[in-house]
Amino acid sequence: MEVFKGNFTQQEPLPQDAIDAAVNVLNTGRLHRYNLKEGDAGEVSSLELEFAKSIGADFCLAVASGGYALATALRAIDVKPAQKVLTNAFTLAPVPGAIASINAVPLLVEVTENLTIDLDDLEAKASQSKVLLLSHMRGHICDMEKLMEITNRHGIKVIEDCAHTMGAGWNDKPSGSYGVIGCFSTQTYKHLNSGEGGFLTTNDPLIIAKSIALSGSYMMFDKHLSAPEKNMFEAIKYETPNISGRMDHLRAAILRPQLKELDKNVIRWNERYRTVEAILQDVEGIFLIERPGKERFVGSSFQFLLKDFAYLEIQSLVSSCRNRGVELKWFGKDEPHGFTSKYDSWKYIPDQKMAKSDKIINSTLDMRLPLTFSVEDCRVIATIIRQEVEARITS
Ligand SMILES: *Cc1c(COP(=O)(O)O)cnc(C)c1O
Repeated sequence: MEVFKGNFTQQEPLPQDAIDAAVNVLNTGRLHRYNLKEGDAGEVSSLELEFAKSIGADFCLAVASGGYALATALRAIDVKPAQKVLTNAFTLAPVPGAIASINAVPLLVEVTENLTIDLDDLEAKASQSKVLLLSHMRGHICDMEKLMEITNRHGIKVIEDCAHTMGAGWNDKPSGSYGVIGCFSTQTYKHLNSGEGGFLTTNDPLIIAKSIALSGSYMMFDKHLSAPEKNMFEAIKYETPNISGRMDHLRAAILRPQLKELDKNVIRWNERYRTVEAILQDVEGIFLIERPGKERFVGSSFQFLLKDFAYLEIQSLVSSCRNRGVELKWFGKDEPHGFTSKYDSWKYIPDQKMAKSDKIINSTLDMRLPLTFSVEDCRVIATIIRQEVEARITS
């Protein structure tokens, strides 16, 4: 029996030009974003301009993490303690965590079998909240026109969590450009790698002014290039608390060359994704997630559902796959281990029963497809999964 030897958490080394850029920054000793030589824009401001341009946003702020971007976004639109914020029942813990960090209250919305937000449940709960923190969890994008129609009709502001959709889009419009704010992560396991880091993007001059002040700008607004008119800061500079979460030049320096490669890497990820998909396509018992024609996705991870499998069967499948080197994450497992995507393990939010999502989450399996895997590796991985599922269907 074939065994896979690769590592599901191994990223590629950084490109040489990123390493060179990092060494240049280290040689200057100027790592803080506002520590600039006369006339020098600096790596962070330059990166902000480049990232804003890449998604067609007017403004971008680079920050310390994706989770920090989410909390800053909520603060920048004045979400208050005890206010309800709609969000997906299936997402990663930094999303409810960002809401909880400002003492607001997550109001969970069910997810569909395509792992996107359930628009019927959103409609049903829309009157209870003025903000939706929408997570494009695992890179699956819902029908964004329908979603925006619902949220606009109810006067709901949308913040997009694009941790898994950097480089993706819906109907030729980049992910992150539908809501009032887009939030991105450059943490190691996302689409750009600076260890930790993130971006907040918006077209709203007041929101970016507040976000810049929130991130800890020490009244050095004028050093930002991706910034609104000066008078925007006049209105908010004494009212906005400093909650430091800036990005530094070292991280920005290694991100700029990677951003240039993003589109090329999206093609590489999708080649791997489609390879796995083709092998699992007609396997009895496996439910694959449909990728709509309007969705431009980044296949950096792969999900499938085993809808008719019992708890013990999935448990045994996950363990057999692990023995053959294939690391599947199973969100249905009683105890969350190595992930934090089970809403009932977020004990800091009010208890909510999500019957539809439970069924879906309990049958969902997930794996990463890092670019260190070759297309042939992906073929081996998918074949192992296929064999393990088929063995259980026929037995
Ligand atoms: C990674 C991630 C984030 C942000 O994570 P950070 O580690 O704070 O950069 C937000 N949402 C989702 C769904 C994520 O996977």
